[in-house]
Amino acid sequence: MNTIHHHAEKPDLTRNQSLVFEALEDADTPLTAYNILERLTGEGLRAPLQVYRALDKLLDLGMVHRLESLNAFVACRHPDCDTHATVAFAICDECGTVAEISDTSLVSALEAITGRTGFAPRKTTVEMRGLCSACRAA
Ligand SMILES: [Zn+2]
Ligand SMILES: [Zn+2]
Repeated sequence: MNTIHHHAEKPDLTRNQSLVFEALEDADTPLTAYNILERLTGEGLRAPLQVYRALDKLLDLGMVHRLESLNAFVACRHPDCDTHATVAFAICDECGTVAEISDTSLVSALEAITGRTGFAPRKTTVEMRGLCSACRAA
């Protein structure tokens, strides 16, 4: 039931899935499905559905994350993490960079809270909006 998540041994991806993943890996900021399609028209992708299908698979594999507040996607920057049940992102409103944060103390704090209520979370995504250190210094 857990998605194995090791970029070292890349799973077999279709051409479209590889293209979409590489587009996200190359990007400095999150990309919407439309942004991805724009970047890949030269590669022969034409329909948004092609992008959405590839994204679904990559999300399943834990290779990309969806940022709900931006309706955009980022490549996972944590090749060593096994599970993505809990992920947190710091999103800069100024320059648009996104930092993926994986901190086990966050996971255990959330587990302690939900454990008391009997709630069983399947997936937790924390999206923090604000200013990154570079933009704060500017
Ligand atoms: Zn990740
Ligand atoms: Zn910034």
